[in-house]
Amino acid sequence: MGTSSAHERLVQQVAGAVVDGGDPAAAAEAAGFNTAVTHRPAVVVAATDAADVAAAVRYANDEALAVTVQATGHGAVEPADGTVLVSTKRMQGVRVDPVARVARVEAGVGWRSVIDAAVPHGLAPLSGSSSGVGVVGYTLGGGMGHLARRHGFAADHVRSLDLVTREGEVRTVTGANDPELFREIRGGQDRFGIVTALEFDLFPVPRFFGGAMIFTGPAVGDVLHSFAAWAETLPEEVTTSVALLRLPPVDDVPPPLRGVVSLALRFGFTGTPERGEALLAPMRRVATPVLDSIGPMSFAAVDGIHMDPTDPMPAVTRGGLLHGMPADLVDTLLAVAGPGVDVPLAVVELRLMGGALARPAAVPNAVTGREGAFSLVAIAPAPPPLVDAAHAVTSGVVDALRPWSTGTMLANFAGHAAADLAAGAR
Ligand SMILES: Cc1cc2nc3c(=O)[nH]c(=O)nc-3n(C[C@H](O)[C@H](O)[C@H](O)COP(=O)(O)OP(=O)(O)OC[C@H]3O[C@@H](n4cnc5c(N)ncnc54)[C@H](O)[C@@H]3O)c2cc1C
Repeated sequence: MGTSSAHERLVQQVAGAVVDGGDPAAAAEAAGFNTAVTHRPAVVVAATDAADVAAAVRYANDEALAVTVQATGHGAVEPADGTVLVSTKRMQGVRVDPVARVARVEAGVGWRSVIDAAVPHGLAPLSGSSSGVGVVGYTLGGGMGHLARRHGFAADHVRSLDLVTREGEVRTVTGANDPELFREIRGGQDRFGIVTALEFDLFPVPRFFGGAMIFTGPAVGDVLHSFAAWAETLPEEVTTSVALLRLPPVDDVPPPLRGVVSLALRFGFTGTPERGEALLAPMRRVATPVLDSIGPMSFAAVDGIHMDPTDPMPAVTRGGLLHGMPADLVDTLLAVAGPGVDVPLAVVELRLMGGALARPAAVPNAVTGREGAFSLVAIAPAPPPLVDAAHAVTSGVVDALRPWSTGTMLANFAGHAAADLAAGAR
């Protein structure tokens, strides 16, 4: 906590809550999705609007404290200790204009609220695999979702941002009023301040075809080998990925996947079901899945494609980008993370990139990683006894695939790999 008069002034200025780091309520205010990261801030400001955020930033500046921001905690990598932590959880305003095809959200909004407001109008946002993720954090880190190969990164389709600058100034930033800041902030995460509201495009998606096929046993290697060549033939209307999964032997995991290594082939397509089936046919011929959910679906149900966890969990993530997915890469991946090895991984995922992701945004921005052909993410469970093992195993996967790496990464999927790079690790 800072000086008492500054703290009292902050409490008076903030309409939301100001919770001292020593208060037992601070832990709940600072808790997020990744429970491997425990923030111990000096103060939590649970903001309700831009004025609250600005008061928090000015307080931090006066007291020479760092400022951090959290919406859902899906992106937490390092603990924010001794900071003024601005929690945007209470900022939940969402507005969809179906005629202008634009959405405006406040800083705490997750993708679920936007999807639910847009889909009844035949529209969809550029959301990702989990609708629990926050719109602002996702978009400022690039944002690669179910329509990405057709429309690019979410950051490419931002119309305007409301920002509280590092100096505590409240501004609206657009390509017209500040082209340089508008470019740097889209892809720049929280480097330029705290975004309090975001306005972005929605896209007509009158129908959607997608889901996942899951394979076990020898089919895992066969499908993985066939995937790379097949994926590169797909039109931009398709997004697809493969993920090696290690699901625990618990009741809420479907019986064929309990305690075994499986491979999920995910598919999303905005064309007709007939064309979707035709595009999938080569993969259906490779092996018979133990589970298959691919078919016509509402965009509102897209979380079912990746089946990401919805409850908070402790995890360590490392990511990277790959030039391609040749057979020797697949063999290497199987050797470090395939069914034959006993490693404490949860997921190793490779997403097909290309299409609009490889093209510059119409209004240039700071998103990195357009050169990747596939993105790589390795995620390990990290309850306290497994933290070191989680770091070792995720580093091991990234290191093993380094011969095919572009040396760059997507901000949203880098996880600890960004810190490794900054520290000069190989
Ligand atoms: C289960 C899961 C699924 C995911 N799926 C995808 C996906 O499909 N595609 C994809 O691109 N990414 C995906 N991600 C990554 C995700 O987009 C990033 O972790 C993102 O940073 C999460 O944002 P958040 O606000 O939910 O998380 P938080 O942890 O609350 O925030 C993460 C970071 O975002 C920035 N930030 C948040 N709010 C603000 C703000 N108001 N102003 C300025 N900066 C802010 C800050 O740097 C903050 O540290 C996924 C992550 C998880 C855990």
